[in-house]
Amino acid sequence: MHIRKNDTVKILSGDERGKTGKVLSVNPEMATATVQGLNVIKKTRRSKKEGEKGEVVQLTRPVSASRLMVVCSACGQASRTGMRIDEKSKTKVRYCKQCNASL
Ligand SMILES: [Zn+2]
Repeated sequence: MHIRKNDTVKILSGDERGKTGKVLSVNPEMATATVQGLNVIKKTRRSKKEGEKGEVVQLTRPVSASRLMVVCSACGQASRTGMRIDEKSKTKVRYCKQCNASL
């Protein structure tokens, strides 16, 4: 999964194509991410008791990670990312394939 919490991502397909937003949470098992302001649905909740008003609830639904691209914090472009081993720390780091910056 190439997307992490707090990433800025761009959505590539669907009605909201081209929009960007901040990742609020990710679900690696489902390969989905919840992005602020993306895929928001309005759900009307009916009143349970008589005389009570129903309310409109806004829900942010998760989006498939395959429809999202990480916006690189270094070059500002929606970029493909890769993984590489960092020379110093010997750990896996994610990097931007556009400008080569570690993310
Ligand atoms: Zn970059």
